[in-house]
Amino acid sequence: MKSTTRSVKKQKHIALVAHDHCKSELLRWVKENKDMLAQHILYATGTTGNIISKETGLVITSLMSGPMGGDQQLGSLICEKKIDMLVFFWDPLSAVPHDPDVKALLRIAAVWNIPVAINRASARFMISSPMMSEEVDTEIPDYDAYLAERLH
Ligand code: PGA
Repeated sequence: MKSTTRSVKKQKHIALVAHDHCKSELLRWVKENKDMLAQHILYATGTTGNIISKETGLVITSLMSGPMGGDQQLGSLICEKKIDMLVFFWDPLSAVPHDPDVKALLRIAAVWNIPVAINRASARFMISSPMMSEEVDTEIPDYDAYLAERLH
């Protein structure tokens, strides 16, 4: 697949998602990093976003709840290049009804080369990166080239 470059601005668009057993972990991480996160534009699935904004006062665009389509809404925003990074504390120990949506979200984040943190350790490394406060170029698939190739 050919790739092209996308410029990720200083102010990042960050999506936050946590499955039910992981919500308190994500909330703790958000509280610890509130000052940094407040400098960026935040999105979340419905329940996660409502809990975090109520508990921290952070401004968050809350989409639908995950099982009702929120993961798919985030996937769609990623395809549209409106999300720069994903913090997704998915539950490795319990089944969720919307498992296909979870896989789809992780898959589309991989397709579009979006940084993904899946637990507190990876989220800590991600948010400590100097790139958080810089404009950075990232590689993404060259969709025009992809389509042109398929039309031949
Ligand atoms: P929720 O959805 O924030 O509405 O709980 C998260 C998810 O299950 O993907």
